[in-house]
Formats: sequence, structure tokens, C-alpha cells
Amino acid sequence: MFGRAPKKSDNTRYYEVLGVSKNASQDDLKKAYKKAAIKNHPDKGGDPEKFKELAQAYEVLSDPEKREIYDQYGEDALKEGMGGGGGGHDPFDIFSSFFGGSPFGGGSSRGRRQRRGEDVVHPLKVSLEELYLGISKKLSLSRNVLCSKCNGKGSKSGASMKCAGCQGTGMKVTIRHLGPSMIQQMQHACNECKGTGETINDRDRCPQCKGEKVVQEKKVLEVIVEKGMQNGQKITFPGEADEAPDTVTGDIVFVLQQKEHPKFKRKGDDLFVEHTLSLTEALCGFQFALTHLDGRQLLIKSNPGEVVKPDSFKGINEEGMPMYQRSFMKGKLYIHFTVDFPDSLTAEQVAALEGVLPPRPSTQLTDMEVDECEETTLHDVNIEEEMRRKQAQEVYDEDEDMPGGAQRVQCAQQ
Ligand SMILES: [Zn+2]
Ligand SMILES: [Zn+2]
Repeated sequence: MFGRAPKKSDNTRYYEVLGVSKNASQDDLKKAYKKAAIKNHPDKGGDPEKFKELAQAYEVLSDPEKREIYDQYGEDALKEGMGGGGGGHDPFDIFSSFFGGSPFGGGSSRGRRQRRGEDVVHPLKVSLEELYLGISKKLSLSRNVLCSKCNGKGSKSGASMKCAGCQGTGMKVTIRHLGPSMIQQMQHACNECKGTGETINDRDRCPQCKGEKVVQEKKVLEVIVEKGMQNGQKITFPGEADEAPDTVTGDIVFVLQQKEHPKFKRKGDDLFVEHTLSLTEALCGFQFALTHLDGRQLLIKSNPGEVVKPDSFKGINEEGMPMYQRSFMKGKLYIHFTVDFPDSLTAEQVAALEGVLPPRPSTQLTDMEVDECEETTLHDVNIEEEMRRKQAQEVYDEDEDMPGGAQRVQCAQQ
């Protein structure tokens, strides 16, 4: 079906249309589309063709399956795949789904534009194993929903009264006298009606929500953590946050927080693991089993005759993290080798090693030359500690110099 070799430019245009990079997340795409769609909306004098193009690009890229096809084979493959019947949404449909109503609410029958409720953000701790394998987590959350008994009106009769505290405006103005001829006006939401401008007669209050218009509800959300998702990546449940009257419900957003792994470190799609070899293993060869994140045992072994140097890296292809939404591809697994040298050797060991190791360099000192040198003593140091202490001392000395330093600059200017 996708026999043709794709042209290079075939699978980047949609990204360019939306002004995002090829590895943009779903969230980035949504934001970019929303922004561009508002700017280019025909009702606001935008170009209808451009608007349609945006919607088309977003429709493809927001669908992981279509996006994968597009990334690999380009636009034409999608057209072949979609055929005549399916696909083709009205761009306005996609657009209005963001706002839960007609675009902008302008000129609509609703009269007043709805507020948008706040998004609720929860951190979600996941292990590296879970990001490797993918997992679904059921989470129970409690949220406000419109009271079903009064349909979010708060009263039995559906009637409400103008709030006496703010005359129905929902706002109160406080005046503070700052001086004889100075006043400060401050506007804030009315505390009696919580800014709604309405109050409910005590006897008319809805018995289920006590006039609050909303009740608490427990809800179980199934969060799908896909293979290869990154630390900090967001998983959004649109319109699942707290409901409130006359408000477009916000989203519940889970932000992934990867827990530290005792063995593996992750960098993008790659994994890093530390391994210490004995000196014998480093020189004469080694093999060991490494348990991967999915429980597989990887046999790691050196090539015959190979010497592994301290602080060196080796890599294994396709054993890193699965790539997000392309989990059939994987990053690299890097192994960082440390070599554990013995602290000391016996005279016999030294002699035996001298017998097999390459000869010493030819620039050995003669006894005469040694006699002409001064004796020294090597002692152990913790170099990082000593450098840190020296640096701290330098900063301190610079501070001391400051007044003198300024003086010198002044003199130079004269
Ligand atoms: Zn009020
Ligand atoms: Zn109620």
C-alpha cells in the first residue's frame, strides 16, 4: 500500500503549518493549533483556506495512529488510507470542541460568555519500569459536579434573588482613605454570593446541595502511561475537573514524575548503567548478567583479548528506552565501566606481572641520575576536596580586595 518512496518534504508540512517541531507533544500541538486557529478564524477576518489547512494538520497530528503514518509516509499515504468516506471533519467541529460551544460565544444565543474553570494538576509518580513497559493506573479522585437534584441552580424552585450585598453585580468596592485627599478603590468578588450576584432564599434551598449548586463525587480515572513517556509529560483528561454553574469545566492533568531508579539512569531514550570490573576482568575478559527493566537477563561479555579501560563506556543498540508512540524503536543502553584496582601487590605478584606485561619504557633513570635528584614523598590526597577548599579561599580573598580594586579603577580613569 505504501510502495512509493516518500519525498523528504512530504512529512513535515503539517508541522510547519502548526509551527511546531517534529517531536512536539500532544499538548504542544493542541496549544499551537488553538493559538493559530484563533488568529486565523474566518469570523475574525482570517483566511478560510489557511484555517482549513490548520484544522487538517491538527486532525492528523492529534491522532497518534495517523501521525505515525504521516511521519513515515507523508500526506499522500493518509489520503489513500482514509478513502472517500471517513476522515474529513468540519474544521469548526474540531475548533469548537476546545471551547465547549460555538466559537467565541459571540452572537450566540447564550448571551454571556462562559467562564473557563481551572485545570486541576496532579503529579503522578511512576517507576522507570512502568515507563519502559507502559501501565494503566486507576486513580480515584473526588471532584465537584453540578447537583443533579436542582441542575446546579441551588434552589428547589429554580428561582434566585439578586444578592443584597452587591446588588447583583457580584462585585463589591471598598474605599480606603489614604490621606485627606487621597482614596484607594478596591474591587473584589462579593463574599455573600461568592461573586455570582445571586442568593437563594433559605426555604427554597435545594436539600441535596444545600444551595451550593454542586456536590462532591468520587470518580475513578484510568490513566494510561504509554511506553516511553518522559518525566514531566502531561496526560490530560479534558473537562474532568470541578464543575461549576456557567463554567466550562477545566481539565484534570497528570504530570508524570519518574522515580529514581537504583540501577538505571535515563537520558532521553537512552539508558545508562554503572558496572565495576575487577582488574583481572578488565584485563582478561568478563561476562555478567544484567537484569533489564522488563526482567530479561542480558548477557554482557567482552570480546576475546579485549582490555576494558577505567572510566570507559560501551553501548548496546536497541536496549534503551522504547520511544514514545514508536515503541518498536528503542534507544541505546550505555554501560559505564569502573575498574577496581588492587590497593597493593606483594613482591611475588610484582615479579610475576613484570614477566608478562609489556616492558617498562626505555627512558629508565640510571643509578647516577637518581643520585643527582632530590628525594620526595608522595602522599594520598582527596583532590576534589582540596580544590574546593582552594576555590573557597580565592573567593574570600577577592572579596577582601574589593575596596582596593575599585580604587585602582578610579586612579586609572584620572
Ligand atoms: Zn453579592
Ligand atoms: Zn442542588
